[in-house]
Amino acid sequence: MPYAEALLQTRVLDKKCSQVVGIAIPHEKRVKRNATRLRLPLLIAALLCFQSVYPQHTRTFSPRKVQVRFVHSPYADYLFYLLYRNTNDFSSVAQAVPLDAIPTAGGPISLSEVVASSKIKDYRNIYPLLKDYRKPTGLVIFKPMPKILGYGKTLPSYESLISIVRQGESSYPKFLELWEKEVAPQEQKSIEAWQKQNAQCVPLERLQELERVRFPFPSLDVGAIAFHFSGSNNTSPTGVYTRLFDKPNLAFTLGHEATHLIVNKYVGYNWTRHPRAAEAIDAVKKLGGNDFDIEESLCLFMQVTLPQECGDTSKAARVSSQLNDV
Ligand SMILES: [Zn+2]
Repeated sequence: MPYAEALLQTRVLDKKCSQVVGIAIPHEKRVKRNATRLRLPLLIAALLCFQSVYPQHTRTFSPRKVQVRFVHSPYADYLFYLLYRNTNDFSSVAQAVPLDAIPTAGGPISLSEVVASSKIKDYRNIYPLLKDYRKPTGLVIFKPMPKILGYGKTLPSYESLISIVRQGESSYPKFLELWEKEVAPQEQKSIEAWQKQNAQCVPLERLQELERVRFPFPSLDVGAIAFHFSGSNNTSPTGVYTRLFDKPNLAFTLGHEATHLIVNKYVGYNWTRHPRAAEAIDAVKKLGGNDFDIEESLCLFMQVTLPQECGDTSKAARVSSQLNDV
């Protein structure tokens, strides 16, 4: 794709990033306001990043063969409903399983994603997974492995989380009935489409070739979570997670979320150590942005580029234009 066109698509997507990247909604609203002022610094920053993105044929590169596992879980969906009351296309759940008396969590945490990858079989198995929130020192813990605990600016208290999960326990069986009937078939449909796309294109290998950076993990979970705000990722368990779309597109999800993992500063390619990264970050900071704006622009770019690499036409990539019209 011509470079200018790619940047244009990135910018168009950036305007509606909150539709695509739910975990960054407050941050993206600020970026949206500053979109015009940030355009040039982001372009400079993207240039730095794209030194890695565009293939350099003078060197050989072999992508890591990553074991991809597709997962979904009623507990993961229920937690998006219980913790945040998010329902997406399944708004009837509010009548079928009312939770009005239970407060919501103060900010997004990674519990649902961890649950999806843990494949738990009993509601009581959620409680041990909350132990990381007992005395956290930040949004990320580092031992035994780096793990993202939350996606907002702060974490809800352990006491509030355990209280919400306890209060939600009695309503879970009713939710499960609805999930098995209405939600699971939709998630299974997405997973089947992803499996075909993975076999046809192997998008995670294509992504590594485009970025010329090896994926930092030997395996990756891809989670279908119908009640998810949008998309997210975590380093432990290693996974990317997404809401459902009318047209399942594995390359779209991996282009964005797996790029976040590839450039994760704790376990992946820490692009902020690039010789010219400080220059780019300074330019963005002067206009009210930060280094995450640069990373996010790269991810938005790759969520368009990777599907095209896997055969999507430019017409199919018009998802960006549709989002811009919302
Ligand atoms: Zn993102």
